[in-house]
Amino acid sequence: MPFLRKHLQSIAGYTPGEQPPPGSSVIKLNTNENPYPPSPEVFRVLQTLDPEWLRRYPDPTTVALRQAVGEVLNVHPDWIAVGNGSDELIGLVVRAFVEPGETAIYPMPSYVYYRAVAQVQEAQPVEIAYDEAFNFPLKEILDAQGAVTFVASPNSPLGNVVSINNLETLAANLQGLLVVDEAYVDFTSTNALHLVQKYRNVIVLRTLSKGYSLAGLRLGFAIAHPALIRDLNKIKDSYAVDAIAALVGAAAIRDQPYKNSNVRKVLRSRAILHRDLAALGFRVWPSEGNFLLVQPPREIAAIALQQQLKARGILVRHFDVAGVADKLRITVGTDEQNAQLCQRLQELM
Ligand SMILES: *Cc1c(COP(=O)(O)O)cnc(C)c1O
Repeated sequence: MPFLRKHLQSIAGYTPGEQPPPGSSVIKLNTNENPYPPSPEVFRVLQTLDPEWLRRYPDPTTVALRQAVGEVLNVHPDWIAVGNGSDELIGLVVRAFVEPGETAIYPMPSYVYYRAVAQVQEAQPVEIAYDEAFNFPLKEILDAQGAVTFVASPNSPLGNVVSINNLETLAANLQGLLVVDEAYVDFTSTNALHLVQKYRNVIVLRTLSKGYSLAGLRLGFAIAHPALIRDLNKIKDSYAVDAIAALVGAAAIRDQPYKNSNVRKVLRSRAILHRDLAALGFRVWPSEGNFLLVQPPREIAAIALQQQLKARGILVRHFDVAGVADKLRITVGTDEQNAQLCQRLQELM
């Protein structure tokens, strides 16, 4: 007899991208990390760290961090919940707001983690396909009326943004909650934060993992009406965000100029990489994230190419998901890393 609960026995769980140990020489373009280091403010704050901070439990309300985030986003701290990465907040949303058997809706291709979370919580994941041209399936999502609907914008791995018009139509016409996952918001020019003020069923998720180069720190934020924030806080682990993360996160988010200058570099590199991959014969989709979705030319199998790159020390991401199984998602690295990628690709092809 397996000990695992019945409903968990048949599910696959989430498979995160490969994480080689720090210091290994691979060029890592598989999990959309920022290629630049975090703000120097992060290291300055770490040097002031008092052991007393570690002896004691952290502030369960993370008030100092929420104040910093609130100042930067221009929202009151009562409208902000903090999580151990936005992944934790995605889990909390399903645990707090979806009864067993109720539906968690999301378009696909998108972030596969939504599926894993829904399955673990005994929610019913319902995946609504983007069409072949990757048009957003607005009507189908509206018709599905999920207890919760997850929309990533910018969306990974496609790179598209979902228009504010479409998001607002969802907010206004869904009876359930709309979660707008803005993990890549720093790399685009629009965002849905204002919808939170207007619609009480909207939750916007942000993270320090991508734009702020802090994927290892694990900090994410939910911005929503205080009633929803209270519900999330009611079920969260009191100390999921540790004292160091709260301290470092506040310093990083306050250093907007540093983040913005890195983002500008990534955007410049994205344009160059887009051009260079297209010149190699790849089909490249326009992207508003720090990654590109590409399809290899001439029947070359995406998965084979991914493995050949891996054997040569370059990691990129392949998803076994309908619509993108013949494509690869490549994180925008530094110009040097991107040039090496293109060089290897040229040799391979
Ligand atoms: C990277 C990513 C996340 C995860 O963010 P963390 O804060 O690192 O947990 C969430 N959603 C999407 C769409 C992402 O790509």
